[in-house]
Amino acid sequence: MTETYNKPETIVLHAGFRSDEKTGAVAVPLYQTTSYQFNDTQHAENLFALKEMGNIYTRIMNPTTDVLEQRVTALEGGAASLALASGQAASMYSIMNLCRSGDNFVSSTDLYGGTWNLFANTLKDFGVEARFVNPTEPSSFRDATDDRTRCYYAETLPNPKLNVFPIKEVADIGREIGVPLIMDNTASPIICRPLDHGAAIVMYSTTKYLTGNGTSIGGLLVDGGNFDWEGHKERFPTLNEPDPSYHGAVWTEAVKPLGPIAYIIRARVVLLRDVGACMSPFNAFQAIQGMETLPLRMERHCENAEKITEYLSSHGKISNVIYPTLQKGEFRRRADTYLSGGYGSLLGFELKEGKDAGRKFIDSLKLLYHVANIGDARSLAIHPASTTHSQLSPEEQEQTGVTDGYVRLSIGIEHVDDIIADLDQALANS
Ligand code: PLP
Repeated sequence: MTETYNKPETIVLHAGFRSDEKTGAVAVPLYQTTSYQFNDTQHAENLFALKEMGNIYTRIMNPTTDVLEQRVTALEGGAASLALASGQAASMYSIMNLCRSGDNFVSSTDLYGGTWNLFANTLKDFGVEARFVNPTEPSSFRDATDDRTRCYYAETLPNPKLNVFPIKEVADIGREIGVPLIMDNTASPIICRPLDHGAAIVMYSTTKYLTGNGTSIGGLLVDGGNFDWEGHKERFPTLNEPDPSYHGAVWTEAVKPLGPIAYIIRARVVLLRDVGACMSPFNAFQAIQGMETLPLRMERHCENAEKITEYLSSHGKISNVIYPTLQKGEFRRRADTYLSGGYGSLLGFELKEGKDAGRKFIDSLKLLYHVANIGDARSLAIHPASTTHSQLSPEEQEQTGVTDGYVRLSIGIEHVDDIIADLDQALANS
């Protein structure tokens, strides 16, 4: 059916599900089941051979999760999606789907710490090398590329620096030499659609803004359906060589009748089948409920964060506020090019008095939560130097932009006056 709508506010409520055929239920039903009864042996055989699409087992697919996948696909303008157990599982699968031992990929240095560890240490132990480059200079991605480079990886709006990634610049370099760009868009749903700027794959931790209610861990990959895997056969053996685990199927050929979705189908039927980090149907149900208000929430998140940036910028105890609207030159241009409808809800500031003041500030908060999460409907705060970044050397802290007096905020959707009142009393005590 051709839809009559294409706006995010409508997509999050309607895409992928109208009402339950049997009961008429309008809310997406929670199919908390592991298995699905086959009609007969022929039906079962067809499903296993991928001759017919349908439900087999919830490790690989589930009707509730399917609606979430369809909604995010529509939101991102992609071709198909795959929900996973966590954002970490999603970033791991995004790389594993293309890299074998001995391969490499080029990643921006501006990454969430968990992704950094996965890339720098765990993947290295499996023989996959992450080559970290400075995203300020897009050409550094080309310079680090060789014949065994399988993809580029970056975050749209990475904290703490909040320097928006040059998506088109790097995607263009990649497309010229046949390397797809994978974008972690966790911090900027709705306000950025990386596929529109040339990215091939979008990754989410649905744990954050997408679900928004802070109840459920989850991750997701969106296949843009816009990358020519077949045109670069040598670079992508996992998609272009016969797969012994599927009777020698060549994914780029086998999947053609279903659309340009070889990447995401392989991730589902090979990685999810074998490694098994599926999203729980209950978490998919929670994500669906949360996503219904995502466009509205993002508006308020961004509006509140801009007002709080103004408040903090004129506070005597603060030496520096970090928010995209305060950036200059090329960084500001990138923020204006790639974000629309707001600049996100993450912001940082540095206290003149350093570490002790940072701790005192956090300990004085009454409304804001002191947690390591971001993207909750509630406002959140953390002092990275004594928590998430405490293991880093002073040089590494400097590189990541985390100083002793640095505080990170994830601004929620409460009334802005109440958030400012709490910040104000905590700053007075710090
Ligand atoms: N990517 C980003 C940008 C994140 O902030 C996080 C979590 O903080 C992740 C990935 C990992 O997601 P999860 O915690 O759902 O595994």
